[in-house]
Amino acid sequence: MQYKQIKNKYIIRIDPGEEIVETLKKFCKTHNITAGTITGLGATNNVSIGLFELKTKTYHSKTFTDDHEIAPLYGNITTMNNDIYLHLHINICDTKHQSYSGHLNKAVVSATFEGVIEQIDGTIQREFNETMKLNLLSLK
Ligand code: FE
Repeated sequence: MQYKQIKNKYIIRIDPGEEIVETLKKFCKTHNITAGTITGLGATNNVSIGLFELKTKTYHSKTFTDDHEIAPLYGNITTMNNDIYLHLHINICDTKHQSYSGHLNKAVVSATFEGVIEQIDGTIQREFNETMKLNLLSLK
């Protein structure tokens, strides 16, 4: 990967074979980015996306291989239990330009990924919510 910092923004390039979620999380840890937003686009040929089923309160995941554009990825950076917590959603499109989207679990870059992290100066925490069985923002 490569990056360039301009004030509170980090421009990021992630390269073929690198996994996006892990790479972004590691980057945030290294640069002490505890709050912010992430936007990005690029291409992946191995991506796992999920959907939270409210009735059962469980995630259903699906993996897509073959060529897909990332168009786009969007997410936020918070912390939970003193660890960086990324919440990322993604839209991908296939060779017919049909789109699939969901909660991003994992995506391996095929061609490139171009992202921008905008750092928020502060900390935003999450807490596990027993009712929803989700890690929700805790804005107290
Ligand atoms: Fe989500």
